Amino acid sequence: MIVTVTMNPSVDIAYTLPHLNLDQVNRCNQVSKTAGGKGLNVTRVIHQMNQDVVSTGLLGGALGDFIRESLTKDGIKHNFSDIDGQTRNCLAILHDNGAQTEILEAGPTITAAELKRFEQVMANLLPESDVMTLSGSLPKGIPTNYYVRLLELMSKDSIKVVLDTSGQSLIEVLQSSVKPYAIKPNLDELSDLTNQILTADETALKQALTADIFEGIPLIVVSLGSDGAFVKYTDRFYRVTIPKITVVNPVGSGDSTVAGIAIGLQKKESIEKVIKRAMALGMSNATHQATGYIDQDSYQEFEKQILVQEIK
Ligand code: ATP
Repeated sequence: MIVTVTMNPSVDIAYTLPHLNLDQVNRCNQVSKTAGGKGLNVTRVIHQMNQDVVSTGLLGGALGDFIRESLTKDGIKHNFSDIDGQTRNCLAILHDNGAQTEILEAGPTITAAELKRFEQVMANLLPESDVMTLSGSLPKGIPTNYYVRLLELMSKDSIKVVLDTSGQSLIEVLQSSVKPYAIKPNLDELSDLTNQILTADETALKQALTADIFEGIPLIVVSLGSDGAFVKYTDRFYRVTIPKITVVNPVGSGDSTVAGIAIGLQKKESIEKVIKRAMALGMSNATHQATGYIDQDSYQEFEKQILVQEIK
């Protein structure tokens, strides 16, 4: 089974307006409210691929109930730990022909007792888990090295962990002795980690991925948006070329890629197949308006057109 962890989920609200008037009342007829947060996008894509998945993390208040109900309605298994604080809203206003103004709440502050309760939930899930995804930021009150703690909890059970986070919580993991099986930085995140401005140049990417901080992580997928990906798997490097597609909304493509990596690891597929699946799911998501949403037809069509080449 695949377990997805979302420590700071949200209810994502999207308001579509012809024009955003600042300092005035804006009335909106086009509203969508969905269970959000990177880990929940990963969950939805795994579920749409008909793979067994359980979603866990922290939820509280009425918005926490909304997320539980929408997962249940979609037939997705979940086992979240309760918190006293309120799960957050994240607001995106789509306006003026393509502009997107976002307001992201920081979210609740988590107490030590709540974290302890969550770890009990995790402990119960570990025996059934083969692959686990850890996605997104950590809410207030949780130390930035908390993903290290979770990796330590999992290390005994030989669970393959796919970690998709950024900033200090990623650095703490890279500096620790417990390693995830896979990470999926994009170019900006890899540039931040290696203190340089990277482009899709293969020589520079290869050199960047041989830095000491990445030692012990078998699979590193550097996603490059419409340019595909550059991958390091053990001591091998791969260039991944994808076809041009008509993009509707690429938000969540990284999460869909993480879903593909998790499914591939769960099925113990070859590295080429894992990469193709991950890319095709990211691409399929980009062809839909909804975030963390794929369809089988485009996924299968794209997968056939992806080229994975080992480079020396
Ligand atoms: P996000 O944070 O929005 O989820 P990301 O920056 O983590 O995304 P990307 O590199 O943008 O991740 O996308 C992941 C994968 O999705 C890419 O490697 C590619 O396969 C696919 N993809 C994303 N954007 C495009 C695009 N514009 N055209 C084709 N494929 C895309």
